[in-house]
Amino acid sequence: MNKLQRGALAALLIVIVVIAALAPAGIGFLFAQRSQRHDEAERLNTVAKAALYRAEDVTRRLSGALGEIGKVSAAPCSPPYLKELRRIALTHEQVRDAGAYDHDGRWQCSSLLGAVSAGVLDGLTLPPPDWRSRDGVMAWYGLSRLPGGKSSLVMGRNGFYVAADPSLYIDTLDANDDVASGVAIINTEVSRVIATTPATDANAILAVYRTAPPARDCSPYVVRRSVSMPLAVVVSAPHQTLHQRLRTLPWGWLLGGVVAGLVLASWAAFFFVRRLSPRGQLSDAVRRHQFIVAYQPIVDLATRRCVGAEALVRWKYHDRIVRPDHFIPLAEHRGLIQAITDQVLDTILLELGDFLKRYPEYYVSVNLSAQDLTTRRFLDVLGPAIAQQGVRAQQIRIEATERSFLDADAAKEVISAFREAGHAVYLDDFGTGYSSLSHLQNFRIDGLKIDKSFVDTVGQDAASSSVASHIIDMAATLDVQVIAEGIEHEEQAAYLQARGAQYGQGWLFSAPLSAAEFIRYAGRTRGA
Ligand code: C2E
Ligand code: CA
Ligand code: CA
Repeated sequence: MNKLQRGALAALLIVIVVIAALAPAGIGFLFAQRSQRHDEAERLNTVAKAALYRAEDVTRRLSGALGEIGKVSAAPCSPPYLKELRRIALTHEQVRDAGAYDHDGRWQCSSLLGAVSAGVLDGLTLPPPDWRSRDGVMAWYGLSRLPGGKSSLVMGRNGFYVAADPSLYIDTLDANDDVASGVAIINTEVSRVIATTPATDANAILAVYRTAPPARDCSPYVVRRSVSMPLAVVVSAPHQTLHQRLRTLPWGWLLGGVVAGLVLASWAAFFFVRRLSPRGQLSDAVRRHQFIVAYQPIVDLATRRCVGAEALVRWKYHDRIVRPDHFIPLAEHRGLIQAITDQVLDTILLELGDFLKRYPEYYVSVNLSAQDLTTRRFLDVLGPAIAQQGVRAQQIRIEATERSFLDADAAKEVISAFREAGHAVYLDDFGTGYSSLSHLQNFRIDGLKIDKSFVDTVGQDAASSSVASHIIDMAATLDVQVIAEGIEHEEQAAYLQARGAQYGQGWLFSAPLSAAEFIRYAGRTRGA
């Protein structure tokens, strides 16, 4: 990944993390608002229900009182009649006044003021009613010229009437309840407002009633119609200031959203940092089997014939090939090396399984790390895998460096298990560690690989120029094989062979090859 791509990716990740943080908070806010509106609608509905119940009840009671006047047998406006009117007005607490009028609508008498002859009602005529039912009941809404002077609601029938305070219709609503501040009772047959809470705009309410908004959660109005009477209630939500809205906002939702956002954002940040870190990328590579294997031929120095190959792992990272020195230490540190070792083995058997089966004289050596040498795990994987392919145990050899002997006792046991199973074991990079010699004493092995650094100095004046020669002598004494690594020049090969090294490996013979190239290389040197 180049710098530009990295920058673009980092920008993208920041955007994703920010979205991860903000989206749940935003959703939380929307839910909070929704929940607030839902609660509000619920409250409006409750108020509407109570108001309608009250309106029906008052109407029923006024009708009852009207019915009672109808049953009075005394002559209208006679003293006994007036006495009955007063009784009815007193016994029905909703009734403010009761009385009679003639067929021209002229006032005759009132429970409050007595007969017309008293003078007060003289010449007073009722206007045409605001509403008239099929069975002759009439209603006047907001009559102010009645006894007592206040605006009254009047219900009349067959020449007699009852008057009531219109606010009775809504007086059960708590005036301090700001939800109830916009309640109106409407006669649905004539679309007239019968009563409203104070400071309610009757025209606005009527307009709402006429357009009859659907009962949606977020509507600021609720309309409820009576099923038995031509009555409806419209309740409008009070206008709230921003401060009031914020105060009543369900903060739980909002906080939940913010917390979810933070959790999600941290998770996203953690996820991306992990994925983008070398460790994350290496784990990805293991999961996606992004490793390939190169085979460096090992030759017999005397005949120059190929005897086998060392398997060298490479990480195919996008279009780049990453050398093992750059990722093996990390893989060892992060516990990914065993999975990589397994993938190397799988690749060897996939690419060279048939070749090895056909040519039992060739082998492939596999580099193992400390973790591979602490248990028999890899041996347990190796055995069945090669058996299935028909590859012999001696065709897979093991290379172990001193660094992998950290747990010396365990390594010793595992190494002897490999040898018992038929896999030759080589001590890699021999001479570079502090205790190479003591390892030779403690571990029974099959061969040494002379490190390239000692091969490099062959033929030079350097103090270490004779180390390779000493190692070869020592190997002869211990009766173990020697493979010299990193041979780049003919003189090195000639010298090492003359000193008694049997095998060599290096660019002089071949660089690491692909499986197909290696098979061709082996064929060429066989024919040589
Ligand atoms: P090594 O086991 O000492 O492998 C030899 C290294 O020397 C290889 O480097 C090889 O490409 C390089 N080489 C071979 N001949 C010459 C030469 O003539 N001149 C020069 N300059 N270099 C030469 P490579 O492939 O980069 O491997 C580096 C190290 O990575 C290996 O050192 C080995 O310790 C480790 N490694 C490679 N494959 C694996 C593996 O599958 N598992 C584990 N655990 N380690 C591995
Ligand atoms: Ca090696
Ligand atoms: Ca080596």
